Amino acid sequence: MSSASASVRGGTLGYHLDLTIGRTIYAIERLPVAPAVGARAYRLIKGDGTLYDVAQTEYGPQCDCPDYIFRRDGLDPAGCKHIKALVGSGLIDRA
Ligand SMILES: [Zn+2]
Repeated sequence: MSSASASVRGGTLGYHLDLTIGRTIYAIERLPVAPAVGARAYRLIKGDGTLYDVAQTEYGPQCDCPDYIFRRDGLDPAGCKHIKALVGSGLIDRA
């Protein structure tokens, strides 16, 4: 089980969004997406520099992490932990 929480820190020069999944903290950047590709997309950046891109598409949320690609895509509608956390945080929609 992983728990998700999101927090927003605002400063005079901008905002920074962190997402904690389990014990791992990810910095989140919103990615520009073409309307035909997806409604929203986010890049999750781990402290060690690992990147995962999660996009909301017309087929549902998709992630490019190994867990999603090999074990969730087409198999688990709930998706990987990144998708579950972004959906749970309200950053992307389930469908
Ligand atoms: Zn993922």
